[in-house]
Amino acid sequence: MDTPSPSKHEFKAEVSALLKLVTNSLYTNREIFLRELISNASDALDKARFEGLTNHELLGRDLEAEITIEADPKRNVLIIEDNGIGMTAEEVTRNLGTIAHSGTLQYLSELNKQQAAGEKPDVNLIGQFGVGFYSAFMVADQIDVYSRSARPGNEAIHWSSTGDGTFTTQPAKRDVRGTLIELKLKEDASEFAERLRIENIVRRYSNYVMHPIQLQMLDDGINDGDSEQINEASAFWTRSPKDLSEDDYKAFYKHVMGGYVMPGDEPLGHLHFSADAPIQFSTVLFIPGRPPADLFNEDRKSLTLFARRVMIVENCDKLLPLYLRFMRGVVDSEDLPLNVSREMIQEHRSLAGIRKALTRKTLKLLASIASDEPETYEKFWANFGSVLKEGIHTDSGHHDELVELLRYRTSESGDAKISFAAYLEAMPEDQDAIYYITGEKPEALAHSPHLEACRARGYQVILMTDAIDEWVVQDLSEYKGKPLRNVAQGDFDLPEKEKEANEEAAKGIAATLERATDVLKEQVKEVRASKRLTESPSCLVDDEGDLGRNMERILKMANQDVPSRKRILEVNPTHPFVQSLHRIAEASPEDPRVGTWIELLYDQASLAEGQVIDPAGMTRRLQSLLSEVAKGS
Ligand code: ADP
Repeated sequence: MDTPSPSKHEFKAEVSALLKLVTNSLYTNREIFLRELISNASDALDKARFEGLTNHELLGRDLEAEITIEADPKRNVLIIEDNGIGMTAEEVTRNLGTIAHSGTLQYLSELNKQQAAGEKPDVNLIGQFGVGFYSAFMVADQIDVYSRSARPGNEAIHWSSTGDGTFTTQPAKRDVRGTLIELKLKEDASEFAERLRIENIVRRYSNYVMHPIQLQMLDDGINDGDSEQINEASAFWTRSPKDLSEDDYKAFYKHVMGGYVMPGDEPLGHLHFSADAPIQFSTVLFIPGRPPADLFNEDRKSLTLFARRVMIVENCDKLLPLYLRFMRGVVDSEDLPLNVSREMIQEHRSLAGIRKALTRKTLKLLASIASDEPETYEKFWANFGSVLKEGIHTDSGHHDELVELLRYRTSESGDAKISFAAYLEAMPEDQDAIYYITGEKPEALAHSPHLEACRARGYQVILMTDAIDEWVVQDLSEYKGKPLRNVAQGDFDLPEKEKEANEEAAKGIAATLERATDVLKEQVKEVRASKRLTESPSCLVDDEGDLGRNMERILKMANQDVPSRKRILEVNPTHPFVQSLHRIAEASPEDPRVGTWIELLYDQASLAEGQVIDPAGMTRRLQSLLSEVAKGS
């Protein structure tokens, strides 16, 4: 029984705003409120189970974990009860209303964004922002929470609210540990007190909750028949893969992803196996169908670790290397001690063994998808390729497997991405290196003057556009005995037949090159004759051993000092523009066109890379050249 003087509290402003949105909008899938309440109950049971292992004082230490739903169609009431960890008075006030979760504001702005974009606010995401409890106000006019903490020395507490900006709390009478949440359903939400509807929702969203969910129907407050367990409540991973269908895996995937996946998000592959030696464990892991939004966040989700079916940590990042952080699923081991703290379990040496096995199996799974289901692998690569590439730099132990998994566009492959093995296969006989170029946009790279010599020889050039590729090439100096060479770096050779004419022409213009080096001494280290250009008049190259362009980009982004360095301007000695320039320079060294044209060679090389340092100056120079051409015609 309640004491007569409840104390009244205001919700934090953000919570109020959230509640207004939740209670007053018409949502299509209101049913998810039950998933959220069951998920909270299940978490509370996990916490009690875990704490009971070491805390002998815990109230009701020997209780069988259970979630009970009581539904009373006559009174239009729905009750969700658990015998989990419960909440103290202070925890109730903190968790349900006063101090805003950081998630509240984030979720609000997400809803507002969706509304502004003319979409229906997606209430489904509510659990991901840590404010799932409030979704119950979509279906209830009033919510009463009775909770008693399992930690000794606490009284029970009664929290009550109609979701209108305030809530009350007062001491309550409750002998058992755990939480009971009573919903006075809205008139138009009476369906949620019906047996079939509840069974259906639980099967859809909460079938794989590990704790049994009992449904007890009530008739005006009195038990109407026996209660029935309405979920699977077994550890999915202990079942034999032989007995499981694709649909079963999809359903479990959804459970692993928090009960909700975007439409079309189906796992691209899964692993399900048990190992006995040296460490006993079972696992079900998925490659998600879409990149999780938190992939690059420090506090991202990862694998859930169980020890003998007891949930230890929801996000254990010790089970896979960072470059496989996109995998989602569960690991359950028989070998972990249960009577120590969570932190100590996470340091247990068994985890290193499990991690080794999971890494090997995951890479094998990826290899088999790559060879047997190329279209699926393409999706995988688009989603997670840049994450997997980190492994080339960080995991030398799996270097060979990882290299086979890499995919790149090449100058000849169009939109398709190919493997190094396929690149090798397509190599003409005389090609003795693997050529690549790095930069930001594949389209710009594919038209870069640097590729001309390779193209003339029929060589493909790998187009590397990911910032991380600079690291990849540092750790990948060769593949199957063929060295990797950057076409924008160092010296280069034209095909034999063009070499002679080129060398001849280069000798001829030596004096002009020297003059150009002087004119451009502020911009470049040197102007020299190029052996890689067949069509363009000029291009910029890096000296052998200089920082790659992408690496420079990465360092600048990280606000690091990038050593200032000049590049080399290469000009094509056989190009008509260069030849004309040389003729004018020889005949009348004082002609102002000489300087302008030399600068134009630098302009066009910069333009080919997509960055002109002095666009106004370049326009002026181009105009003068165009007038010249017009006069001559
Ligand atoms: P989330 O569960 O994502 O943190 P909620 O708004 O659903 O967000 O719940 C807020 C907090 O209230 C939970 O983190 C938990 O500490 C507490 N809580 C909710 N339901 C229960 C319950 N049945 N038993 C114990 N604590 C609960």
